[in-house]
Amino acid sequence: MVSIRGVGKSFGTNEVLRDIDLTVDRSEVVCLIGPSGSGKSTLLRCINFLEVYDRGEIRIEGKLVGYTDDAQRRRLSNRDLRDLRRNVGMVFQQFNLWPHMTALENVAEALVQVRGMDKAAASAHAGRMLDRVGLAAKADSYPARLSGGQQQRVAIARVIAMEPHLMLFDEPTSALDPELVGEVLQVMRDLAADGMTMVVVTHEMGFAANVADKVAFLDRGRIAAFGTPREVFHEATEPRVQQFLQTYH
Ligand code: ATP
Ligand code: MG
Repeated sequence: MVSIRGVGKSFGTNEVLRDIDLTVDRSEVVCLIGPSGSGKSTLLRCINFLEVYDRGEIRIEGKLVGYTDDAQRRRLSNRDLRDLRRNVGMVFQQFNLWPHMTALENVAEALVQVRGMDKAAASAHAGRMLDRVGLAAKADSYPARLSGGQQQRVAIARVIAMEPHLMLFDEPTSALDPELVGEVLQVMRDLAADGMTMVVVTHEMGFAANVADKVAFLDRGRIAAFGTPREVFHEATEPRVQQFLQTYH
């Protein structure tokens, strides 16, 4: 589903991704963990082509995202980019709901704008998506009347309404009060159980340990450890991994 080979990226002289290799199979959940500034968000943004990378290649469902190599530097056509974005959904730390729209309208809007659905069909579909994240009762509420956890669940409903093949999450629970984290993680667990392919940047080690098929530990732009949660959490010997994990216990 996602194949990342030899990807490197610098911001000026700051080398933030170095020789990244990572494969995500269909229906797999891969968690990216690691210290602040290690390149987790940058890698996620490269997968969604919100960011260009300098070396290597990223393929999604066989399709090249961005540049091939230094020599070739082939850009995606606008059409390829649109197809790519259509199949890849991203959930951010900040939910970015439209404040002047109800939960239902927030989910339905993109279906009308991007998918070209008529309003009635979009509303019906949006209602089903809100039900899926446990928010059917809040369909007519405005974001200001929803908790952070509920707002993030609306944001997730908005993404899954587009029926993405792949979902990217960048610290989806980091902006939430601790008591609201669980409900969002539960929605993500349900998605994983339904077979969604997911790449999740998270500091929730419990989620990574219980839900991830694979965990990648990024350190200064490199994948310093990769494997099953058991392999990374219990068997990894790299001092940097040990040190990082200790701060979470
Ligand atoms: P965090 O856990 O704090 O979110 P991260 O692992 O997601 O960290 P990134 O946001 O990917 O880290 O940043 C990796 C490095 O790239 C950092 O040194 C950061 O300062 C730098 N960086 C990120 N975005 C830019 C940018 N647009 N311009 C310049 N430097 C950037
Ligand atoms: Mg980040």
